[in-house]
Amino acid sequence: MSKKKADILVITPHPDDAEFGTAGTVANFVRQGKTVVYIVCTNGDKGTDSLDCKPEVLASLREKEQLEAANVLGVKEVIFLRHPDQSLEDTPEFRKEIVRYIRLYRPDLVITADPYRRYIWHRDHRIVGRVVLDAVFPFARDIWSYPDFLDQGLKPHKVKEVWLWAPEDKDINLRSDISQSFDLKVKALKCHRSQIKKPFASEMEKWLCQRAKDMAGEEKFKLAEGFHRVEMWW
Ligand SMILES: [Zn+2]
Repeated sequence: MSKKKADILVITPHPDDAEFGTAGTVANFVRQGKTVVYIVCTNGDKGTDSLDCKPEVLASLREKEQLEAANVLGVKEVIFLRHPDQSLEDTPEFRKEIVRYIRLYRPDLVITADPYRRYIWHRDHRIVGRVVLDAVFPFARDIWSYPDFLDQGLKPHKVKEVWLWAPEDKDINLRSDISQSFDLKVKALKCHRSQIKKPFASEMEKWLCQRAKDMAGEEKFKLAEGFHRVEMWW
């Protein structure tokens, strides 16, 4: 199998989550010349309150929106795993699928949803975050985790850091300065037209700005995205 390479792998439950969670930070990395690849785990086909909007139509629309948003940010490639919305489980198969992409792209940094928001949190977000953490360690690292991967040239890989978006406030230990990329974050989010409807559409920019100010906390910069950063010991 040919070796691909990404500096950063963003693994997102649904189309649009990565833009809410980490678009400003992604735009910064791209500006620095880093290669960013998205993996979108579900097709988001339940993301509507309209009976007229059929799941298969919505899924195809959301792929287009996601590609448009990724293009705004300069993401190099978007991979759609196309699991149905609300269907993810922490299974050996899903874990292996994620490990496969980690070993294929060999990123230094993986960014995904924090699985440890308490109480109400989308199940797909919880599952993706947890499965990605398990995939990074020990499954992507250990040589005998998947002997069949070795035959395919997918050697073990040590990710250096995992950044988790949307942590509980008390868990934020990294505030990423998005003062210079906030406009791109808004532009990318606006691509998700099926999700951003009135009255939220008109309020979204104000809401995002307030949220980014809150995330900046006591930092010297004005606008931020907040993460829980996990640094590996190797
Ligand atoms: Zn989501």
